[in-house]
Amino acid sequence: MASLQSVIQGIYTELLSRLGSGKVADYIPELAKVNPRRFGIAVATVDGDVHAVGDAEESFSIQSISKVFALTLALGTHGDALWKRVGREPSGSAFNSIVQLEHESGIPRNPFINAGAIVVCDAILARHRPKEAIGEILRFVRALADDETVAIDPAVARSEQKTGFRNLALASYMRSFGNLHHPPELTLGVYFHQCAIAMSCRQLARAGLFLANGGCVPSTGFTVVSRERARRICALMLTCGHYDGSGDFAFRVGLPGKSGVGGGILAVAPNRASIAVWSPGLDKHGNSELGTLALQMLAERMGWSIFG
Ligand code: GLU
Repeated sequence: MASLQSVIQGIYTELLSRLGSGKVADYIPELAKVNPRRFGIAVATVDGDVHAVGDAEESFSIQSISKVFALTLALGTHGDALWKRVGREPSGSAFNSIVQLEHESGIPRNPFINAGAIVVCDAILARHRPKEAIGEILRFVRALADDETVAIDPAVARSEQKTGFRNLALASYMRSFGNLHHPPELTLGVYFHQCAIAMSCRQLARAGLFLANGGCVPSTGFTVVSRERARRICALMLTCGHYDGSGDFAFRVGLPGKSGVGGGILAVAPNRASIAVWSPGLDKHGNSELGTLALQMLAERMGWSIFG
């Protein structure tokens, strides 16, 4: 079989003519400034190699991919009690939809839609000041990436704080049902900063590696979560990681994945690798258009689909 490096190089070259496809998110004004022709792929294998191509060393706003790390952290401190406040079902609606919350009495469908991620932040905020909670999330991501240079982009956080009225509505609505334990502004402060974490594909692929390796960081042997929890987080990524495009992502790629409106996707090939792709142009569901295609090609060429 061709080497992994030549497979991702081949995919990158084949997709070069499509650079710039999709639509860059502009509802957070700071995100609209990104060059739509950026494209990077990084694959970190459980054997300890990292293969990278294109703009894989450039930092981008990971946005909702951060929800995977926040969920991991919150499950660590709150355990299964967290599932009383947030569900585990695909939503079938947009990432920032408010409609379902009314029917389901303020309990969001899953931790990866905005409402669910805001509840997860609220749980992390318990017994902390917002700054400490933000620091805890950032330290966790840095440790997973084994890279102290991972940082929050303050301009993106501010930009979202200024324009995040829908998220404020979601948080306030959940507060009215008693499912938000802190004032919406405080919880959202944590949420916006978490979403504004900036990472490169290489850093992100390394940070996701514990999920591909039964909950354990292969290079250090450090157990981040149990094998069972890693499996469950991956199950949620597969069923809920791409909002109302989750079914299509599973159909095309066949791997657990989490997208962000910054154009990144983190995907997990269990027992093999963690993959990060970045291309800022999004499809109609808010998922990276070229990134999804690259992952589809990679999963096909490497035979990595979890469905065999
Ligand atoms: N910070 C973004 C928001 O709340 C995250 C959305 C996303 O990446 O899908 O709107």
